[in-house]
Amino acid sequence: MKCPKCDIEMKVFKENGIETDICPKCKGVWVDKFEEKQVLKIIPEVFTVSELRDLHKVYKPLGRTEKVKYCKCPRCSRLMWRKNYMHHSGIVVDKCKKHGTFFDEGELQKAVEFIKAGGIEYEKLKITERGITETRDKLLRDINRVERADLLGRRARWLMFLGF
Ligand SMILES: [Zn+2]
Ligand SMILES: [Zn+2]
Repeated sequence: MKCPKCDIEMKVFKENGIETDICPKCKGVWVDKFEEKQVLKIIPEVFTVSELRDLHKVYKPLGRTEKVKYCKCPRCSRLMWRKNYMHHSGIVVDKCKKHGTFFDEGELQKAVEFIKAGGIEYEKLKITERGITETRDKLLRDINRVERADLLGRRARWLMFLGF
């Protein structure tokens, strides 16, 4: 399989029965979709909310300084997406939804660290926080509607009482 960046044959690297492909030139790593969990050591861990908030300080959103170059998936040759890995890691990867992810030199290690520091839990926290806000907004809207209906009802009763 060829490196999506350099177009030269990558070397298969085997560790603990898991295979990755490494480019001898750019040192980028291709991780197949179904091996991502093992390669990145994604295991459920529990983090406190304050730990997760600290993680947010460490990883900043991406700058737009880098020139974007899309490259092809080494498996299907379709152009890959440029993604902020796990949405907030600040690690930009090339990703084919069907086949896997290409990490530039050193980025795979960064991704492992991000996950170890609670990156996935942080994602869950973001989802939960958004969920809470949305639920609260919906409740407030419902309360407003009921109150307004109630007010109109009372006014109607008053008008009837006054003989209008
Ligand atoms: Zn390469
Ligand atoms: Zn592909």
